[in-house]
Amino acid sequence: MLPERRRRYLETIGIDLWVRRGRGGPAATPTVAPTEAPAPARSEPPAAEPRRTTVVTSGEAATQWQQLLEEVRRCTLCPLHATRTQGVLGVGPRRADWPVIGEAPGAEEDRRGEPFVGAAGQLLDAMLRAIGLDRHTNVYIANVLKSRPPNNRDPRPEEVEACLPYLVRQIALLQPKIMLAVGRIAAQNLLGTDAPLGRLRGRVHHFGERQTPLVVTYHPAYLLRTPGDKRKAWEDLKFARSVYQQLTQGAADGNRS
Ligand code: SF4
Repeated sequence: MLPERRRRYLETIGIDLWVRRGRGGPAATPTVAPTEAPAPARSEPPAAEPRRTTVVTSGEAATQWQQLLEEVRRCTLCPLHATRTQGVLGVGPRRADWPVIGEAPGAEEDRRGEPFVGAAGQLLDAMLRAIGLDRHTNVYIANVLKSRPPNNRDPRPEEVEACLPYLVRQIALLQPKIMLAVGRIAAQNLLGTDAPLGRLRGRVHHFGERQTPLVVTYHPAYLLRTPGDKRKAWEDLKFARSVYQQLTQGAADGNRS
């Protein structure tokens, strides 16, 4: 991405820039100001790209996506169906390399039937654009829960247990290269842990049967309330991007050899 465009996106998400100046004027590449502690150690190297075990034709995939959509619309597997306006499956291209997974629809998402709309959605879009991603071209956005919990309370374990198979099916259809879990609730439920978010950031986890690499960062709604942590989120996004680049480069090298 052009440095100037990245600078604008970073300003949008509230990251101040520190521009290194040389003798002849400003350096070409802006750098995030190093005013906070460095990002946590990256304790696990990115895994090799998982083997794609299931071949699904585009026609079969389209049928399976439609089935998912209709099942979620009709779903009564947990009590949340009684209070939601509608089930919210997800949005984005159906072979996206980058699924972004949040917690559950909020009030606006429940009303509009799309995840991550409103101010948190706009911040998420800006964060994604800062690493060259776009929800309309290469990102699929979904939640662990497809129906809104009343008053945005945390999902209950039995609700997650009932709903998670939908997400597993979405991931199987997407066959992504990497997943981004945003927020503690999403990360803990996807990884089956109660570890705090701070201990889940900065490393590569793996999700599901295909062992899809998964990186954790903050939820944009949290970042709106706690803008001081935006810089950490930016470190997470850069880390996720580097993992993705290593994975795709490794796959390209494998194809050439
Ligand atoms: S949250 Fe999931 S399991 Fe519960 S009613 Fe909605 S779609 Fe069904």
